[in-house]
Parts: sequence; C-alpha cells; structure tokens
Amino acid sequence: MPAYLRRISADANRGTALHAAMRLLIEREHSLEDLVDETIEGYRITADDVENALRPALAYAEALLDAPGAEFYLEQHVAFPILDVFGTADLIVRINDTTHVVDFKFGPGVRVLALYPDGDEDVINAQLLFYAAAARHSFPKFFAGVEEVLLTIVQPQSIEPNDEMVSSVTVTHVELDEFVAVYRAACEEALAPAPRLRRGAHCRFCPARPICPEHSKPLLDLAELVVPAPLAFDGALAAPPAKEAYLQALADGLNLVDAVKDIRTALHDQAKHALESGDLVPGYMLTVGRAERHWRDDERTTTAALERLGLSRDDIIAETMRSPKQIEIRAKARGLKVPSELIVSTRSGTSLARSENARAPVAARSEIVRSFTAALEAFQGGRHS
Ligand code: SF4
Repeated sequence: MPAYLRRISADANRGTALHAAMRLLIEREHSLEDLVDETIEGYRITADDVENALRPALAYAEALLDAPGAEFYLEQHVAFPILDVFGTADLIVRINDTTHVVDFKFGPGVRVLALYPDGDEDVINAQLLFYAAAARHSFPKFFAGVEEVLLTIVQPQSIEPNDEMVSSVTVTHVELDEFVAVYRAACEEALAPAPRLRRGAHCRFCPARPICPEHSKPLLDLAELVVPAPLAFDGALAAPPAKEAYLQALADGLNLVDAVKDIRTALHDQAKHALESGDLVPGYMLTVGRAERHWRDDERTTTAALERLGLSRDDIIAETMRSPKQIEIRAKARGLKVPSELIVSTRSGTSLARSENARAPVAARSEIVRSFTAALEAFQGGRHS
C-alpha cells in the first residue's frame, strides 16, 4: 500500500499533537494555558485535552525531572541493535543508577499497561522493552552503571475513570538482552518473503487490514449465510425451520457484519485521505460538508453586541453542567475523587452486544426460568434431606 496511507486516523493525529505539546511544555516553550486552541500537526488542542491529558502527564514528567541529578532525553530517536529498526522514545530519565523509560499514551479507548496478564503469565509491554533496548544500544554512556530500568506507561485518560494513570515494571539487563533476541527472530520472519499472518488485537493498528486475507476472509463467508428454507424440495410446505436454526443465523449474520465493519472504516479513511491528497479513487469524490455557522468575533465582543440589541445575558450564554463522566475525568487529572453518593445511574433500556462485551448482561427469560428451577430444586432437596 502507498506509504502516505499508513497512518491517518484522527486518534493518531491527536496523539502526535499531544506528544508534540508535551515537548513544548517540558522545554517550557509554552504553558498549558497557551496550548488551548493551538493547532499542532493539523490537530486543534482543546481545553479538555489540556485539563484531562496534558496537565496530569506533565505533572508526572516534572516530578521525575525535578529529582536531584536527573538527566534526560526527550522525544529521542533511538536505534534498535539489529537491522535498520528505530523508534522515538517519549522520555528517558536517568536518576542515580535507575533509568526510567516513559511512554505517554493519550488515547482514551484502549487501556495500555506496562505489565499485563496473558493467561497464567504476566507479559511485559513489548513497545516499552523495544524503547529501553534501543535507548541502551543508542546511548551506552547514559546507561553505564545503570542497575535497574523502570518501564512506565503514563495514560491520563483511560476509558475507566478508576484506572490508575501510571503503570510501571522494572526490568533487568538480562531481560532486555532476551527481548533483543526474540525481536530479532520476529523481524527476520516478518521480513522474509512469505511471513505468517496472525490475526489478533494488534491488527487494530495495522493499515493493511483492508487487504489482509485474515480480515477479508469473512467477506467471502457471507455466501455461507443461508437461512433454512421453509419449503420442501418438491414445493410442498414443510415444517418451519427450527427456531434455534434461525437464531443461529442471526448470530452468524451479526458476526459477519462485525468483521466487515472494521474493514469498512479502514477503507473509508484511506480512500478519503487519498482523495484529500489529490489522488483519484474510481467512483468516489469528496463533497463539501454541511455549513457550520460561527460567531465572527470573540465571545466578549459578540456578547456585548447582542446585549446592545436588547438580548439578556441569559438569552446569549447557556451555562450547562458537565456530565459525571466528564467531571470524573477532570477530578482524576487533579488527584480528586467525586463521591459516589453525588451520582445516580439510570439505564436507558437494553441494547445488543456480543456476549464477551456485555457490561451488565440481562439474562434471557429462558435462562431466568432455568436458574430459578435449579435454585428451587436445590432448596427442595435441602428440605428433604
Ligand atoms: S491485519 Fe493482517 S497483516 Fe496486519 S497485523 Fe493483522 S494479520 Fe498481520
């Protein structure tokens, strides 16, 4: 695929902009307040970005950098010990005989940890291991005499308000050496003429999804979505298909549509980006969006002009309270906790979700009957004995 279509999601633009903003803040070229409405790398930084993402991340970084004797690299290009592989480490800080390798994650959707459980094992985040091994290779003097390498993810805006912002794990030099060996083997395989395709969570970041056979396979399976026919082969009316068969067909159809949905987003985003870059995508073109009206001048000037017209301040300014979620995010960024007794939850009804994603599953009626029967039997069994 063309190189310019490889990284185009809005989240990636926001992430790039917030990383660039962190550099400006740590180097004290900008204050947090300066950054609101500033456009960096094509992304306009919002007041929420400043309050919920940059402020807490900066507080963490400054605490580290203020330690006596701290030396650091910021947004540093680091080369991995093998092949022509490199990356950019957000922040590498040495304090005495410990080196901190810090990665800022500004995406709110996927929680990223330095150490995460995988079955019976705890697995160290490979991206952090990569930065640490590459930094050690690139700056041997900086790492001389370092006893411990502390890998840290700082993610101020995880999707769950109660998640910790910082996740860390300590690694040894031996573990870094082992990682280099494993990574080398993986790279060699990936760069071989016919690398193995392995579908997994990592695919969400892969721009090749629309053309990857692992992901396009379900498109072909659509042909297999056959709902049992009610007619017998001689045209006579047969018994209607079993209800279970039809319900299975519904589930199969939803699975297929889910698989295709991801590809649709990637296809759409890449085609749009190609057209914006001046290329031709046969049968598609860009059209102008709906016109959005804005006040021409700043808020104070416009408010004064409208008041002179005879409108009251109430007519002009609507003061609305932020949602519990928005305030919880801001509170978390300041190390505060909103008391739960201030919030009530009401459910808006039921919605359909895959079983593994159901946050608060509602048992089907047959399931309720089954568990009630089982409980009743257990109860009666207990009384008889
Ligand atoms: S989408 Fe395909 S090529 Fe990309 S990571 Fe997943 S399996 Fe590999």
